[in-house]
Amino acid sequence: MNLLSVHEAQERILSQFKPVEAETLPLTACAGRVLAADIISSDLPPFDNSSVDGFAVIANDMLSAGSAFPLTLSVVADIPAGSSSDITLLHGQAARIMTGAPIPSGADAVIMVEDTDFNNGRAGTTAPETVKVFKSVRADENVRKRGMDIKTGRKILFTGTQLRAQDVGLLAMLGVANLPVYRKPRVALLSSGDELMPVEFRLMQGQIHDSNSYTLSVLIADAGCEVLTLGIAPDKKDAIQFLFDQAVGVNADLIISSAGVSVGALDYVKEVVESNGKLDFWRVNMRPGKPLAFGEYRGVPFIGLPGNPVSAFVGFEVFVKLAIGQLAGLRTVTRLKVKVSLAEALESDGRESYLRAIVEERDGVLSAKLTGHQGSGNLLSLVQANALLIVPAGVKSLAVGDQAEAWML
Ligand code: AMP
Ligand code: MG
Repeated sequence: MNLLSVHEAQERILSQFKPVEAETLPLTACAGRVLAADIISSDLPPFDNSSVDGFAVIANDMLSAGSAFPLTLSVVADIPAGSSSDITLLHGQAARIMTGAPIPSGADAVIMVEDTDFNNGRAGTTAPETVKVFKSVRADENVRKRGMDIKTGRKILFTGTQLRAQDVGLLAMLGVANLPVYRKPRVALLSSGDELMPVEFRLMQGQIHDSNSYTLSVLIADAGCEVLTLGIAPDKKDAIQFLFDQAVGVNADLIISSAGVSVGALDYVKEVVESNGKLDFWRVNMRPGKPLAFGEYRGVPFIGLPGNPVSAFVGFEVFVKLAIGQLAGLRTVTRLKVKVSLAEALESDGRESYLRAIVEERDGVLSAKLTGHQGSGNLLSLVQANALLIVPAGVKSLAVGDQAEAWML
């Protein structure tokens, strides 16, 4: 098996996933979910309504109105928001109207209350019998016309969109109470290694806390998935297999493991996958995180991340996110990528490298510097970073001022 480029590995992973099934959920449960259908709008706003508190009028009546020549209209209706009036306004008449209330028939403009003699702005007032108007208005002034924001029939949200607050709000405007979204992908997670202990345990000599499960659980949940935590497998084939079988038993859509996919004498994870499924590749030309396995365990896709905490994180960002995006039905996995200028020189070993960096604006340009030593166990360097700086494959050194790409975290 040869060393794949990051791009090839990503393509191979992407080609193996398709979206999980859709389910119908109430709108209140849909934030963060991915739409499984296009949404077609009806007219918004749904009726002509006032954009101000004031008086609905006939614009043509108002031509002569001005501060020196107030025009007196008789007020024939009072229309608060949420009500409607079946009057038809005649010349010389006005209707008091509140923001959001429907424009009565006959009227074609609204004069702001501030431009009348009824401008004391107190709540609870009843409409006056007449109103003096100090200003003229154009037809349609202060009127939000039916369909002016969106016309019936327009596609406004698309399959594969992850719903944000404003998307949910727009759906509510349209009265969409239930909608089809993809169910959350179920991602099973395990750590492997005899040295690993859960965070609650006091460590014996040689042991360390399993930090990857904690980091990866957060990443998986943030990516919109259900996390099925399988725990820690010691470095024994049957123990690893036991946990993998549990993932199969709970119908995981994806199994993620960390560690045990390198060339150490006790790195059994690949072997277990190979003998119960298939290993597509297990090494990628990248830094950190060359040992990165992809395959399938008894029909369930599997990605084996490296054990070192930074490598596991980077492997997740570079590969697992794509797989999850595909499972979740996302149209694209978007990332904020920026061009940066290097504030320090750096060396690389020719692998595509993802270095922990701080990107900040300096004199109008984005400048990047590394967060200390880039050892793949040094999680602090990632804690301090706000970006991953990408050094392309084949590049061995970069000088101060050279351009590079960075992913904002
Ligand atoms: P391995 O891939 O098993 O050779 O692990 C590589 C390095 O990552 C070793 O130093 C492990 O102790 C460390 N490591 C493996 N799994 C974890 C984990 N879940 N949390 C923290 N460190 C880990
Ligand atoms: Mg190990």
